Amino acid sequence: MSQEPSAAASEETITFADLGLRPELTKALSALGYEEPTPIQREAIGPLLAGRDLLGQAATGTGKTAAFALPVLQHWADSADGRTSVDPTALILVPTRELAVQVSEAVHRYGRDLGVRVLPIYGGQPIGRQLQTLRRGVDVVVATPGRALDHIGRGTLQLANLRTVVLDEADEMLDMGFAEDIEAILQETPDSRQTVLFSATMPSRVEGLVKRYLRDAARIQMGRATQAPGESPKVRQSAYVVARAHKPAALGRVLDVEAPTAAIVFCRTREEVDQLTETMNGRGYRAEALHGGMSQEQRDRVMGRLRAGTADLLVATDVAARGLDIEQLTHVINYDVPSAPEAYVHRIGRVGRAGREGVAVTLAEPREHRMLKAIERVTRQRITMEKIPSVADLHARRLEMTRAAVHESLLEDDLDRFRVVVESLADEYDIVEVALAAVKVAHEAMGNAPDDEVIPDIAEPAERRERPGQADGRRGGSRGPAAGAVKLFIGLGRRNGVRPQDLVGAIAGEAGLPGRDIGAIEIADRFSLVEVPAEAADDVIQALRTATIKGKRVSARRDRDREAAPRRQRW
Ligand code: AMP
Repeated sequence: MSQEPSAAASEETITFADLGLRPELTKALSALGYEEPTPIQREAIGPLLAGRDLLGQAATGTGKTAAFALPVLQHWADSADGRTSVDPTALILVPTRELAVQVSEAVHRYGRDLGVRVLPIYGGQPIGRQLQTLRRGVDVVVATPGRALDHIGRGTLQLANLRTVVLDEADEMLDMGFAEDIEAILQETPDSRQTVLFSATMPSRVEGLVKRYLRDAARIQMGRATQAPGESPKVRQSAYVVARAHKPAALGRVLDVEAPTAAIVFCRTREEVDQLTETMNGRGYRAEALHGGMSQEQRDRVMGRLRAGTADLLVATDVAARGLDIEQLTHVINYDVPSAPEAYVHRIGRVGRAGREGVAVTLAEPREHRMLKAIERVTRQRITMEKIPSVADLHARRLEMTRAAVHESLLEDDLDRFRVVVESLADEYDIVEVALAAVKVAHEAMGNAPDDEVIPDIAEPAERRERPGQADGRRGGSRGPAAGAVKLFIGLGRRNGVRPQDLVGAIAGEAGLPGRDIGAIEIADRFSLVEVPAEAADDVIQALRTATIKGKRVSARRDRDREAAPRRQRW
């Protein structure tokens, strides 16, 4: 991708049909909920349909599988020979058995209305079954290089009829020691073949393969575009690495910690939008779906609910969210890593407007790491890796909120009317027991019991790990105060309409403390807790005394105020 991501270019809709794909294929894609081609698909499908060799630098998550699979399927469907031959017309080489299965399933799904026969072959699977299927006739073979070579040696995989060879994740295949196998396989293929190579990185060994085996290849590189100067939104960006199965729970935790006023969650397909909306509603969030399959009337209704505040989460595809301008939006959440850096830039541009702080959170699967890095490179902005708050973190945080609420109550003068309750119970029970029970009742009344799903912590590569004490952009409230930070109690909360960005705005604006020095923010119904560096605490308290937030005067003090001690003895 070499073009600048201008608003006009990214708003322009190009359909799969515009790229010249057959109706059988566009129908299958639409049934899968793909609303439009990803950038790599937009760039690659045309040259591939025209028969050109192609070199694509693209990582997982960009939609590269469909980019090479759709032209393979179209060529097969277009050629009468292909349909009658028992030998494959396409060979797709991949580094691992998992990928062989995944790619062959994708080819099968895209080609379901064409009746194409696809076979994954990889080591470790009984060879007998592979032999049988190969004998009956296969159109597309997806194979690991070792096992492919094995079949070629036995004469059970005939390559004479091949039209296209795809080397998927070429850098990975070379890293795994498949260089010789790949070259041996390519030498067995017809000279007239179309050769397609995808690789996330382009080390010289991959370039060597390109020079020897690709002819006049179209080159496509993801992530060349840079942001126009001044375009960069004021957005705090973070990412969590989490396995797919735990994503709904992870999203819930992120929402609990971030407490957005209004958030948009981006998904890749319509199916994902519908499923996630249902799941999040089941988990007690007020989510609304928005996708291209909905009528204008349905869309208007959804937007109405969001504006009226009866929904706080919009789950949408990129296409459906196009042109939306939601003023209250504070958070953009990428349920998957977007398919291209441009898509990422476009999505996060929906928050952080008009000088307000916005938040972008990305949930990435472990294998999407590379894509995240590409996005960081292109946007020249750091995406902070965060850890999903654990169940213990959430419990600790809830207890902390309860403690702060009880503490706040101790500072008020209206406790006497409860004396009769305490005194009557104190006749029978130890006073600490009474206090414990009262705290339990208060704690439970604060609601929002966290789910107790264990979300495994997935280790991230060392170079992305945050250094201790580095608190850039960190607002999550689950990890206790950072070293050298103190908590401030601010007497305004959710009921006053206070959002994290209001607190950041007031503290940054009134006390001149840079936003990145502000740590965890927790917003309860009637108060908020904000972490600031210890040395700045007094200045911040002083500055907030004359400030207003949401039109209200602010009371601020250190959270564990010593002045409270004498009153505590009331208990
Ligand atoms: P890949 O980069 O090929 O591993 O694809 C990443 C994910 O994106 C897969 O789950 C695909 O099903 C999905 N995908 C690919 N193309 C599209 C598209 N045009 N629209 C929505 N999802 C897509």
